[in-house]
Amino acid sequence: MVEKIEEMRAILLKMKKDALEEIGKAVKSGTDKPSDETSGDIYDQASNERDRELLLLLGDREREKIRNIDEALARLEEGEYGICEDCEEEIPLGRLKAMPFARLCVKCKADLEKLQAQTKRFEEERAYRDIAISEEEES
Ligand SMILES: [Zn+2]
Repeated sequence: MVEKIEEMRAILLKMKKDALEEIGKAVKSGTDKPSDETSGDIYDQASNERDRELLLLLGDREREKIRNIDEALARLEEGEYGICEDCEEEIPLGRLKAMPFARLCVKCKADLEKLQAQTKRFEEERAYRDIAISEEEES
């Protein structure tokens, strides 16, 4: 159990590092200019400003990923990581390795996905209806 926790902690920390590197790369390619104007000085200015820009540049996906990683790490510290939130069964290491943010065991996840698929379909239908209605109103 302890080994499993340590293994997952290492995986999560590496994922976070990779995600941050991805963001760093994205920020760099977004701000890099071919001229010499982009000197180190700009980057040495208020780091808070840079952090804010960095966050803005983050895609929702990357932000979500880091949030998930942080949450998983927090649960790991609490000793709640790797336990199904629904049935409280231990989630197998193989599944955690494949899906480090898994909060549910395979069975509970499948049940949830079925429910989510139904909800999503319902919401999509409703959204289409709303669009249709608003378009009618505008024309
Ligand atoms: Zn479960």
